[in-house]
Amino acid sequence: MRYNFHSHTPRCGHATGSERQYIEAAIAAGIREWGFSDHIPFIFPNGRENSYRVPMAQVQEYIDTVNALKEEYKGKINIYLGFETEYYPEHFDGMVENARKWGAEYLILGQHSVGSEPEFFFWSTEATDNQEYLKDYANRVIAAIKSGFITYVAHPDMFNFVGDENVYNEEMTKIIEAAEECSVPLEINFLGIRDNRNYPTDKFWKLAQGHNISVVFGFDSHDVEGACDLASLPRAQEICEKYGLKILDKVELIKP
Ligand SMILES: [Zn+2]
Ligand SMILES: [Zn+2]
Repeated sequence: MRYNFHSHTPRCGHATGSERQYIEAAIAAGIREWGFSDHIPFIFPNGRENSYRVPMAQVQEYIDTVNALKEEYKGKINIYLGFETEYYPEHFDGMVENARKWGAEYLILGQHSVGSEPEFFFWSTEATDNQEYLKDYANRVIAAIKSGFITYVAHPDMFNFVGDENVYNEEMTKIIEAAEECSVPLEINFLGIRDNRNYPTDKFWKLAQGHNISVVFGFDSHDVEGACDLASLPRAQEICEKYGLKILDKVELIKP
């Protein structure tokens, strides 16, 4: 692997290790393109921030740290400043505008919830047979794909639907078709592999078979051990081989 654009920092409250440790591990493993994509800060209209995002008060420090490392490691590894964001129709424009203001070089979509923060949200990884939640998830991912602001979709298969298989196939196929139409890559998520989560899942990727989509690999680093998770590579490659999926060896970043 030559790149990873999905990594976090301790500022999000559920990651450990320093940016420098991640970068050193990446260089040692032969990675040449690295993006930090921590959970984007956001203050909701009721004044609340959610605890799994970078606090607004720390965003400047995040930017400064990444930009300093970018300079320091020039020639060894290319470092990029990014964010991982959800799609909330009422807040998305504001999030993109902030990212632009902060000089973000790219955004990835990670739709960790349905419903909108902070009043109501239902984690995408919670097992459910609720078709409305599934459709809500799919619609949000599709809207983000069509916005033109997203470099790729992280763990598109995160939603843990355990209900009617036909409905699942129909909704997930809509996501795949939107990605195909807009040429937005879909990620096979290594955190899901090393953590043995409900994703990546064959029931999603087999639907992509025969579609002209591109696959991106992402470590989704939340600690130094996961900063360069080559142990999960064979499973990701197996999925691609099984369903004839094209793996990108270079990711074109979209500036928001
Ligand atoms: Zn995270
Ligand atoms: Zn994520």
